Amino acid sequence: MNIPETGVPRIVVIGGGFAGISFIKKLQKQKVQIVLFDRHNYHTFQPLLYQVSTAGLEPDSIAYPLRKIFRKNTDFHFRMAEVESINTENNTISTSIGSLRYDYLVIATGTRTNFFGNKSIAENSMPMKTVPQALNIRSLILQNIEKADITADERERKSLLNFVIAGAGPTGVELAGALAEFRKGILENDYPELDEDEMQVHLIEGQNRVLPPMSETVSKKAQKFLQDLGVQLHLETFISDYDGKIVTTKDGKKFETATFIWAAGVTGAPIKGIDGEALVERANRYKVDGFNKIKGFENIYALGDIALMETTEFPKGHPQVAQPAIQQGKNLGKNFRKMLKGDKMEPFKYFDKGTMATVGRNKAVVDIGKMHFGGAIAWFLWMFVHLWFLVGFRNRVVTFFNWTYSYINYDRAARLIIRPFKKS
Ligand SMILES: Cc1cc2nc3c(=O)[nH]c(=O)nc-3n(C[C@H](O)[C@H](O)[C@H](O)COP(=O)(O)OP(=O)(O)OC[C@H]3O[C@@H](n4cnc5c(N)ncnc54)[C@H](O)[C@@H]3O)c2cc1C
Repeated sequence: MNIPETGVPRIVVIGGGFAGISFIKKLQKQKVQIVLFDRHNYHTFQPLLYQVSTAGLEPDSIAYPLRKIFRKNTDFHFRMAEVESINTENNTISTSIGSLRYDYLVIATGTRTNFFGNKSIAENSMPMKTVPQALNIRSLILQNIEKADITADERERKSLLNFVIAGAGPTGVELAGALAEFRKGILENDYPELDEDEMQVHLIEGQNRVLPPMSETVSKKAQKFLQDLGVQLHLETFISDYDGKIVTTKDGKKFETATFIWAAGVTGAPIKGIDGEALVERANRYKVDGFNKIKGFENIYALGDIALMETTEFPKGHPQVAQPAIQQGKNLGKNFRKMLKGDKMEPFKYFDKGTMATVGRNKAVVDIGKMHFGGAIAWFLWMFVHLWFLVGFRNRVVTFFNWTYSYINYDRAARLIIRPFKKS
């Protein structure tokens, strides 16, 4: 792997997501060697993946090279590789490019899409967890609209223009809103031969309201925003199958569609080698103590979505969103500095900064403490917060410019089929 032994403790970090990068940033001038592994050579800002899927942003606005983030770190090494297993007895990891010894291991591998064991849905639906998957969705949406424009078969056209999304959490709601806006802003201008009303957006949710993790007040507001945009909501509806043509629900409803997007759940992405009481199998998350140390190990830590820290306030672990990952990463970074100086570590304490989701132009909802509101102010706040947390100055400027341009022109400028999607 071409990583030198420098005589200082080696910290191996798996995953360059929010948690991994926040941790490493805190160790910039410390006497440690850091080796970061990720299967991608970039950090992905997952909250804006839906904008890539719906042609609102180019993928390079929401991704950032990992090597560049840590340019100023000394004794930092990035390797693009899949980490395959951990050997806790001899403190090594095995990866797609070889094995490496660690003194400390920090696992920040996040989650993967959860299809709840349904093979046909896993094979035929479109998940949205990575940049390549978001680009697949973008291509498929555009390819299907192009096909709909030329087919004389009415049933086929309806299926091509029927968009079905599973899961009305923030991702599903944001996707549905963006697609509904696509119909209003783009379809009627770019495809004069198509009837705007033929494009349908269905959002299917098992629970009795949209945005289940948020307050009921904002959930009702979001529901109203979605209905105003013409999204068809199907609550308390469970999907049982998708064979590539028809989505079937448990209560017998059928939706013929060529685009079925799965945004209905995630599960942890643990690595082979740590199991038993250290792994909570129902969630696929590592059980950690108040310092993010994995139960039963002295030198292995887990951060972010993959870590399950049971507290009185969060008996099932912290929510799998960006803030706990960022805050845990920072806290563990500070604790490593303390440990290197021989000081006492501080346990993790989560500061809930609130939750927000956007449905569309001037339509977002926000929960902050006891405040629950929606509308234009919430939308501007949503934009500000997302710009603030985007990694890289260039990405912020480009995204801000794109959003301003789209706001003025009702446009989604990235509607390009550059790498056509082919079902494998
Ligand atoms: C579509 C979508 C929308 C979201 N929207 C929001 C939102 O609006 N607000 C919010 O707060 N949160 C949102 N989230 C959740 C948020 O993105 C996560 O909570 C956050 O990314 C968790 O950070 P993390 O560092 O734990 O994991 P991640 O950010 O997922 O990073 C994990 C990293 O580990 C790498 N990795 C995993 N396994 C391996 C392996 N075996 N070998 C090598 N590399 C590996 C991955 O490539 C990835 O880079 C969203 C998530 C998704 C998918």
